[in-house]
Amino acid sequence: LKNLAIRSFGQKLSAITPRATKLLINGQLVNSSSGETLATYNPATEEKICDVQKACQQDVENAVQAARNAFENGSWRRISAYERSRYINKLADLIEQNLDELIILESMDNGKPVSMARALDFGGVLNTFRYYAGIADKIHGSTIPITGRYNCYTRQEPVGVCASIIPWNFPALMLAWKLAPALAAGCTVVLKPAEQTPLTALRIGELILEAGLPEGVVNIVVGDGPSVGRQLAQHHLVDKVAFTGSTEVGYEIMRSSHVNNLKRITLELGGKSPVIINEDADIDNAVAITQFSTFGNSGQSCVAGQRVFVHEKIYDEFLKRAVQACQSQKVGDPLDVDTEYGPVIDNEQFTKIMKHIETAQKEGGKLLTGGKRIGNKGFFIEPALFADLNDDMTIVKEEVFGPVQQVLKFKTLDEAIQRANNTNYGLGAGIISQDCDVINKFIDNVKAGSIYANCYDANDASTPFGGFKDSGIGRELGERGISQYLETKTVIMKKKLK
Ligand code: NAD
Repeated sequence: LKNLAIRSFGQKLSAITPRATKLLINGQLVNSSSGETLATYNPATEEKICDVQKACQQDVENAVQAARNAFENGSWRRISAYERSRYINKLADLIEQNLDELIILESMDNGKPVSMARALDFGGVLNTFRYYAGIADKIHGSTIPITGRYNCYTRQEPVGVCASIIPWNFPALMLAWKLAPALAAGCTVVLKPAEQTPLTALRIGELILEAGLPEGVVNIVVGDGPSVGRQLAQHHLVDKVAFTGSTEVGYEIMRSSHVNNLKRITLELGGKSPVIINEDADIDNAVAITQFSTFGNSGQSCVAGQRVFVHEKIYDEFLKRAVQACQSQKVGDPLDVDTEYGPVIDNEQFTKIMKHIETAQKEGGKLLTGGKRIGNKGFFIEPALFADLNDDMTIVKEEVFGPVQQVLKFKTLDEAIQRANNTNYGLGAGIISQDCDVINKFIDNVKAGSIYANCYDANDASTPFGGFKDSGIGRELGERGISQYLETKTVIMKKKLK
């Protein structure tokens, strides 16, 4: 990852002044009609970056109406699929041409290291737009040989107006996961970025205009969840809600989206993903994989694999090497290309994580390293590692969403699998072993939407992603992802009798 970044950048990048701060409604960049703005802060410095326009009720109404009009007038769904594909590829090209600016904005707004923003976030953004540009002209139904003298076939039609509500942990990537399949399917969109991280979405809004998409096809409104988010989820002119965020808000979206009509919904929610390290695992490899599964994006990932089950025979050695690995992580300025991980998003999240660390100690967990604040500016936390835990402790049960690994000991594979499944979540799960029978048993028995064997979070634009149980409803990405933006229409035509 680092090499990729170093080739394009110097060693340290400079902060920039964001220029895109306006809402995108009906093909225009506009100020809020209430005159209100919202400040966005840099989590590495705690300083204000800038103010952006904050949508009020009227702005949301205008955005939904614009998306509805664009859907009904056919300016998007009725153009040829090849043309839609060209627009989406054009947008991907413009994002690529403005990559350095976008990466710095993402890093300033979210705190993630530039090397990660480039390789993982924006690598994923470009692949997602290009993958769905390639799928736009391959959407079709089937013919069905039904009983009687009929011709029967199905059509795949766009669902309609989609509200996309996204979180702060992967701001541009989540935008791409929502926008790309919706646009490829022929839907129109009102997108709401998280209030903490609106900057890359607003800049991509400008690029959407530059790509020439018809007015109203994509609208972007910034605001907080309980006002703008809820208004979108409840709106009777919205046909579908696609949401990524906490399970708690997922339940809330579920309720709101059925108040005025029966919206289609996809929910990508929280997780408490396990990683099992079998006794035959290469310990250094196991440490490297679980450092990534735990501390990637400072642990602020829905699929973070932080519940690490280690076989008793290698438990002590694993702990020794994992502690060393935690202590050698390069935590620091996200604009420095060598930085491996940055601060957490804000004071609220920082306080929540520190409380988890405190509670885990009170409940008898042994903090082997880290867990303290670094410096007094910016929300930096030393990579933390807990041992001597049991499955009933709060830190093992609840999503931490921060840089804290929880190491647990097991004796048999059956026991580890049973404990791995002992959660209401089911997003990701990892197994580290060189034994195919062990891996296959794990795949057969673990309830999770993504299984990683000898790797972690290696998803791609073409692979379905989503959760079992309380980790969500539906799947994003891949062919399965676009099906969530399509309605099936069955056509039955009587054939004339000769
Ligand atoms: P959140 O679920 O509160 O927010 C996600 C998005 O939903 C944001 O755009 C927010 O404005 C919007 N929202 C909030 N309340 C809403 C409502 N009532 N109606 C409609 N939209 C609403 O997440 P958060 O506050 O950013 O983080 C809280 C916790 O969520 C974190 O600690 C973490 O555990 C979890 N989280 C999970 C993911 C994930 O990818 N699964 C991402 C971010 C946060």
